[in-house]
Amino acid sequence: MLGHAVRARMTGGLVGLLLAAGTCAVTVIPASPASADAVRDQEMWVLDMVHAPAAWPITQGQHVIVAVIDSGVFPSVSDLAGSVIKGPDLSGVTTPQSDTSWGVHGTWMASLIAGHGHGDGSSGIEGVAPASHVLSIRVVTGLVRREFGQIVVHEAMHAWLVQHRFPSLPEPLCEGLCQAMSYRYIRRHMAEPRARLMARHIRESPDPVYGGGFRAVRASALEHGFENVIDHVRRTGRLP
Ligand SMILES: [Zn+2]
Repeated sequence: MLGHAVRARMTGGLVGLLLAAGTCAVTVIPASPASADAVRDQEMWVLDMVHAPAAWPITQGQHVIVAVIDSGVFPSVSDLAGSVIKGPDLSGVTTPQSDTSWGVHGTWMASLIAGHGHGDGSSGIEGVAPASHVLSIRVVTGLVRREFGQIVVHEAMHAWLVQHRFPSLPEPLCEGLCQAMSYRYIRRHMAEPRARLMARHIRESPDPVYGGGFRAVRASALEHGFENVIDHVRRTGRLP
């Protein structure tokens, strides 16, 4: 359930950011110059995919504050320096900020949103809105790699459904398909006890949308094959 809660928050944050970016065109700032930074080069395809460089001449998120409701954000990271507003710690635990697991995931997320690089700005991580600020609200203590991967796969499936022009789907079917993709991902790592536990959580979730949706998709996939189910849903908006 933690994964669902975090996922909803992450998605909400991104939607909020997009809405904010769409309505807050204020000062025109030219896009950053091309860089020779390897980290920057590796992330550019993602920024290009969401057309961030095309949006930057219109807005880079200045005057926008994005709440990062996550595991905390390190304000001293060079690519986020000056862009982090410290909010409350609602996690219910007292892990010190010096702990190596403190804020790792939250800082990743904040960098993807508001990273502005370092030096003259041409090195390091650039976010989709490099002139925005993030408000760090700590509510969880971190996400291990498999949980993070599972969430990414789930959200990527949502994007894929939109990109491939699936019809509007009932929520249990839409979430069920995304959970089914997460399940396929986690099944590749069943040698890990944590992955087996996560797979069980997906299978047995009492949530009617996520759990019920997944079980309906899985039953259909076992009968017809996953690819056939995907093809049928795309054509009809329903499970075969
Ligand atoms: Zn979803």
